[in-house]
Amino acid sequence: MRLSLDKNITKQGGWVEVDIQSPPPAGSASDYRDAVRGRIVLTNTGKIITAEGWLHTSATMQCGRCARAHTVDIRIDVAEECVLAEIDSPDAYYNEWADESPIPIRNGDQIDLSELVRQLLNLHLPPRSLCRPECRGLCPTCGQDLNEGDCACSQGSIDPRLAALAQFRPRAESDK
Ligand SMILES: [Zn+2]
Ligand SMILES: [Zn+2]
Repeated sequence: MRLSLDKNITKQGGWVEVDIQSPPPAGSASDYRDAVRGRIVLTNTGKIITAEGWLHTSATMQCGRCARAHTVDIRIDVAEECVLAEIDSPDAYYNEWADESPIPIRNGDQIDLSELVRQLLNLHLPPRSLCRPECRGLCPTCGQDLNEGDCACSQGSIDPRLAALAQFRPRAESDK
């Protein structure tokens, strides 16, 4: 994800194409399974460096209903603004709270896209994911994985007083 700082890119109108094939950068928020692949064209517009292209990888996530680990495909269309500022410089993140804050891509005499890739991956990882759209999840009463079959709770033979308890219990737990 690094390449030498081409003189071309330091001049207005200059551009460089970067092929990306690397392990996920350190500081990623998730358990990525595959290398990050992609192609990004950096263009110096005078004020900033635009980064345009795509990234592709996959991550292991827990299902939001049954907690089963599964693989999520992540495809990102890249259209970001960057600057030739040092990644490690404290100033580089001065405007981090702003939406349009450009991402620093300079590392000494090299262009280093690891910070760009790290931010894009974290931004595009879905907050919640299902192992499959029709996942039935866990029984809120006994915790059985309903994908593996019905539990006794769902058979309607439960005493109405116990049913009321069953409804009450998960709520009481989430109130803690
Ligand atoms: Zn599931
Ligand atoms: Zn159950």
